[in-house]
Amino acid sequence: MKAEVISIGDELTSGNRLDTNSQWISQRLGEIGIQTAFHSTVGDCLDDNIDVFQNAARRSDIVIATGGLGPTADDLTREVIATAFHAPLELRADALAHIENLFSRRKRPMPERNRVQAMFPVGAHIIDNPHGTAPGIDFVARNEDRSCRIFALPGVPAEMKQMYELSVEPALFRDLGAGKQRWFYHSIKVFGIGESDVEKMLPDLIARDRNPVVGITVSKATITLRIAALCKDQAEFQERIRHTVEQIHTELGLLIFGEGEMDLDEAVAKLLFDQKCRVGVIEVGAGVWIAPALSKHVTDPFCEYGLAAARWLPRLHGGSDEDGSIANCEAELTMLAESMLHDEKLDLCLAVGVYPSKKVIDNSQSLPSSDFQMVLARKDRATRATQITLAAHPEVLYHRLAKTGMNFLRTELLKRD
Ligand code: AMP
Ligand code: MG
Repeated sequence: MKAEVISIGDELTSGNRLDTNSQWISQRLGEIGIQTAFHSTVGDCLDDNIDVFQNAARRSDIVIATGGLGPTADDLTREVIATAFHAPLELRADALAHIENLFSRRKRPMPERNRVQAMFPVGAHIIDNPHGTAPGIDFVARNEDRSCRIFALPGVPAEMKQMYELSVEPALFRDLGAGKQRWFYHSIKVFGIGESDVEKMLPDLIARDRNPVVGITVSKATITLRIAALCKDQAEFQERIRHTVEQIHTELGLLIFGEGEMDLDEAVAKLLFDQKCRVGVIEVGAGVWIAPALSKHVTDPFCEYGLAAARWLPRLHGGSDEDGSIANCEAELTMLAESMLHDEKLDLCLAVGVYPSKKVIDNSQSLPSSDFQMVLARKDRATRATQITLAAHPEVLYHRLAKTGMNFLRTELLKRD
């Protein structure tokens, strides 16, 4: 069963107002097992609306439209449904009584213009709107050998949500068999590899026709594999995704840092806690990103583990923050990290240099590219160093640098002798 959400209004297509109704409706439909296949947004133009509604009725089983039910000349949804599906408008006495009643409760005469809100396409059912003058339209569009159930609701989010809950959702349960299953999701978080490499490593899993479905998204250099399936409950979902989750873990191994909503800083903080480690962080260059990210998780004043010391240095002797060069800073970072480890009585110390300054990034004509040196000194093992070259949009570069540093710490912590 495919659903389509139609959002109507010039304020939406012009970008003046964000279409929040589509997001809300799609989430609610997903909760009762109905997948939204299309979001259509259309301005207040009769012909365009007719086009959109006819298309939707041809390709979707359920349509939920919002907007265009007010009393003014730009509110066209009644006329659109009537024209698109050859169902002339008729005055409905019960709807008119509701609107008149609402105005008398507000102690105001009903403007003549509001009569139009009591006009409904022949064969439609009225969807009550307890707090507004715009009743909704519940209409079945028949089209050769198939039919499509259309619910048209007002655009005002509060009224729309109340009408969805009071009338639309019960109708979906009662008439369309919704609710027997719903969408469940599980996320696996990955860092240290590109999106297309993930796809290459998991070619069979990303196929769109498999069940469960696996999707890939990227945000601030973190990759999320989102596994989704329609199931009757959590237990069935866990069973359904078990094999897929195992396959992903087998292929990606240590590239996976967490599940669910967890981000890399939280994963590293948890690992430090589990391994009872106190870490120091030294960041060199234009700013600090790792220490603040890890410090978010040092909320318990009695927590002895996690980030225990942080230091910022604008530059090293051998490198410059002006050109982002690292020169030969491994030796100096090693010296700094080892002395912090000793002075502050830590278990580990991560030293990261050199962050390119924002000035350098802003002035670069092409994608800024930066060499990036990291050193991890630890009590129980020899100091390790690594160097990475990163190139990314300035908005992403700092996140990627910080996450690369945290990921170096994570993978070193997970290494066995
Ligand atoms: P309408 O029912 O078209 O008269 O819309 C009434 C109000 O609801 C307007 O102020 C719109 O900005 C708002 N609205 C309409 N559609 C949406 C939508 N899809 N998302 C959020 N707000 C909306
Ligand atoms: Mg409107």
